[in-house]
Amino acid sequence: MNDTSRTTPVIYLDNNATTAVAPEVLEVMMPFFRDRYGNPSSIHRFGGLVRRHIDRSREQVAALLGAAPDEIVFTSCGSESDNMAFQGFRALPGTRTRLITSTVEHPAVRNLCKHLQQQGTELLEVEVDSEGMLDTDAIAKLPIDEHTLLTFMWANNETGVIFPIAQLAHIAKQHGAAVHTDAVQAAGKMPIDVHTLGLDYLALSGHKLHAPKGVGALYVRKGLKLPPLMFGGHQENGVRPGTENVPYIVGLGAACEMAMKHRDEDNAAMRGMRDRLERELLSRCTGAKRNGHPAQRLPNTANISFEFIEGEAILLLLDEKGIAASSGSACTTGSLEPSHVMRAMGVPYTTAHSSTRFSLSRYTTEQEIDTVIREMPAIIEKLRAISPYVKE
Ligand code: PLP
Repeated sequence: MNDTSRTTPVIYLDNNATTAVAPEVLEVMMPFFRDRYGNPSSIHRFGGLVRRHIDRSREQVAALLGAAPDEIVFTSCGSESDNMAFQGFRALPGTRTRLITSTVEHPAVRNLCKHLQQQGTELLEVEVDSEGMLDTDAIAKLPIDEHTLLTFMWANNETGVIFPIAQLAHIAKQHGAAVHTDAVQAAGKMPIDVHTLGLDYLALSGHKLHAPKGVGALYVRKGLKLPPLMFGGHQENGVRPGTENVPYIVGLGAACEMAMKHRDEDNAAMRGMRDRLERELLSRCTGAKRNGHPAQRLPNTANISFEFIEGEAILLLLDEKGIAASSGSACTTGSLEPSHVMRAMGVPYTTAHSSTRFSLSRYTTEQEIDTVIREMPAIIEKLRAISPYVKE
């Protein structure tokens, strides 16, 4: 294999796209591929043992969220959890006529809202300011009632900007509305207590917190009925039929427990490195600007634009150096349009186009950050020199 076919980047700063499975998580999963392969629905002890591990994982996920174990449904991913939550909202008693959301949601929620809008549900999209923040006073004045679902992401995948979920949930409750949050980026990094907040639905995804891809969870407040997205057996109370993905579910539980245990120290370490990276790039690279609120952000995310340069070109040159970052959201990579998040924040076209996201994890090292700080200025100068937009 030549160098360009390398699949493992040397420096991985794309953790909002996906994370590495933690060695501890993989270790916990392995027996369920090898010898603990029983079906959790089987009557025999071989199956019963596996069932108990699923129960334990449900407790671990619930503990991360401040939920009760029977409020957790295992799914395949964050998108499925979001879809299931909306299915639950639509099945609440009475007519369900209005969705209120932001203009910067992940496509998992954005496209779901648009789909329901086409089916006749009213959709109100609340704009964000230039730092990606919401105006909760303006939201409180919207027509919110018991027929409404407020759905706001907890933290933005592109900028890391954190929405005031407690305030939004409070507004929803005052008007008898339902409230859902897409916490795919926040889970494991933010303290979450769904009961204190009064949330009805919360979605999370395993692969953003060092569990594997292919597993997620939905919190559904006790007492709320959840109709299935598909029909079949009794698994997950009939809400998600099909034999459980046992190794992955066990892995998700272990990852949630690990996140709870190490969250504060991991956040402190990531914040320190992220801030240093950002500070240095802003001072060393021509035309560099930060996107997103400076403080109300996940500790692992830096989103920086380099005026008049294509983000994709930056990514390619970084990739040549073995550095993996991202431009826009991972799910829109391939399209050369600036991301909807940058557009919603009113970032000018020539700046939005170069928006580059560096997202760190608990495995990021100071030496890796040093390398990115060292390599970036030359990359930016090289691209500025050939940019058709830079005026002499
Ligand atoms: N919501 C947010 C905020 C995300 O960042 C993502 C993935 O990038 C998703 C939802 C979708 O999660 P999944 O890939 O597990 O379906």
